[in-house]
Amino acid sequence: MKDAPIGSNRRLNTVIAGWVCIALGAGVTLSNASLFALAVATPLSIGGVILLLVGIGMGPDGGPDKSGVSSWEPDSMTMPDAGRVMYRLDTTLSKPIRSSIICGRCAHLEWVEGVKPNEFTCPSCGTELWLSEEE
Ligand SMILES: [Zn+2]
Repeated sequence: MKDAPIGSNRRLNTVIAGWVCIALGAGVTLSNASLFALAVATPLSIGGVILLLVGIGMGPDGGPDKSGVSSWEPDSMTMPDAGRVMYRLDTTLSKPIRSSIICGRCAHLEWVEGVKPNEFTCPSCGTELWLSEEE
């Protein structure tokens, strides 16, 4: 276990430590049901439950919450017309691939499936935001 990276088994260790505390607390209570044993066993068991919950709550990889990433969307905002209509296009990096398009004229936010389409006309104000010259 020398080459195991530090912290990789932290969740497992915490869960095991929680179980050990609960088992010790239960063992002390069962073997010697005196007031002193209860005074020792009760905080031990409570601490074990807390450790167990913390260990489970750490999650399998400890990475960022994926649901928060997929529900991200840009703020709606109007952009100044710089000779032509501006727009903002953001494409998600993880599946499902979706693109958000903000119309610079009316700040309408539209989601489309997949990457940037060849052409797009704002459904809110009817402005053609771009038209690809390719094809
Ligand atoms: Zn628009």
